Amino acid sequence: MKLPHVDYEAPETVSEAVDLLAEHLDEASVLAGGQSLIPLLALRLAHPAVLIDINGIDELSGVSAADGWVAIGAMTREYVAEESQTVADAVPLLAAALPLIGHEAIRSRGTVGGSLAHADPAAELPAVARALDAEFVVRGPLGERIVPAAEWFEGYLTTSRRPDELLTEVRFPAAGRGTGTSFQEVARRHGDFAIVGLAASLTLSGDLISDARLAFAGISDVPARAAGAEDLLVGERPSAELFDEAARRATDDIDPPADLHGSSDYRKKVAAALVRRGLRAAADNAYERQ
Ligand SMILES: Cc1cc2nc3c(=O)[nH]c(=O)nc-3n(C[C@H](O)[C@H](O)[C@H](O)COP(=O)(O)OP(=O)(O)OC[C@H]3O[C@@H](n4cnc5c(N)ncnc54)[C@H](O)[C@@H]3O)c2cc1C
Repeated sequence: MKLPHVDYEAPETVSEAVDLLAEHLDEASVLAGGQSLIPLLALRLAHPAVLIDINGIDELSGVSAADGWVAIGAMTREYVAEESQTVADAVPLLAAALPLIGHEAIRSRGTVGGSLAHADPAAELPAVARALDAEFVVRGPLGERIVPAAEWFEGYLTTSRRPDELLTEVRFPAAGRGTGTSFQEVARRHGDFAIVGLAASLTLSGDLISDARLAFAGISDVPARAAGAEDLLVGERPSAELFDEAARRATDDIDPPADLHGSSDYRKKVAAALVRRGLRAAADNAYERQ
């Protein structure tokens, strides 16, 4: 299908991109990897007057580690993050989630910032960002601000980014000693969006859980933390019974959407199974990393 007519700008610096966003506001869309935006344009589901293509802004790409955080530039391709040894060593939950995104061809164009700015609630990276309390760095005409993941995702495909702001970087905390992680999902075929996904992280101090993080993809219009189950887990010793109870606590109150891939009740059952599976894998991994 042909794209609709749209004006095109290709800034070479972040400041130029921010100036263009400030000029066009809601009339503009940022073009990153185009793997979500171009289909939306072709299907006439997005109607920007101008595309601001940020592919030529070199300063937006790269992975670096400092002070216990890993910073990933917004234009870093998903496959570059997937191949990064820094990501594999310091943010294993992100490393586990990246290969589950679509297919290689998608990940070679799609960007980490694009996925997180698009904020599809069924996508892998938003669940990882929410589980790990990632930080979103945005730049606007008044300078930079840092948005915690809990405040970034506002609704279906909606974030708290303002129209004149560019997402420039996302920071993930490095996993410490004793932290084990696991990304679990059920999809109809490899490469499809998950029907339900789960990002899980457990930290063990001795034999007891000192930190627990569970974030679902695909059960509501934003990536959702299972706070009740996390509270239940902290201070306890990992066991099959504990993980069964956490699965019940995590899914008792959820009301997932139904669609042609599965009913709400089916998604709820899958979510409970993923919690049990994810916690077992994260606990095994945490023992290995002590
Ligand atoms: C066949 C197919 C299968 C897929 N499967 C999956 C999957 O299983 N899991 C998954 O998570 N994703 C999947 N995707 C989506 C893929 O991960 C996309 O790459 C991603 O959602 C968007 O990244 P992008 O860089 O392509 O962004 P674009 O499509 O360029 O942009 C997406 C949105 O984010 C905005 N945006 C992008 N970058 C910025 C920025 N720096 N600042 C402000 N706004 C910005 C754009 O304006 C647009 O609204 C799939 C895509 C396809 C085509």
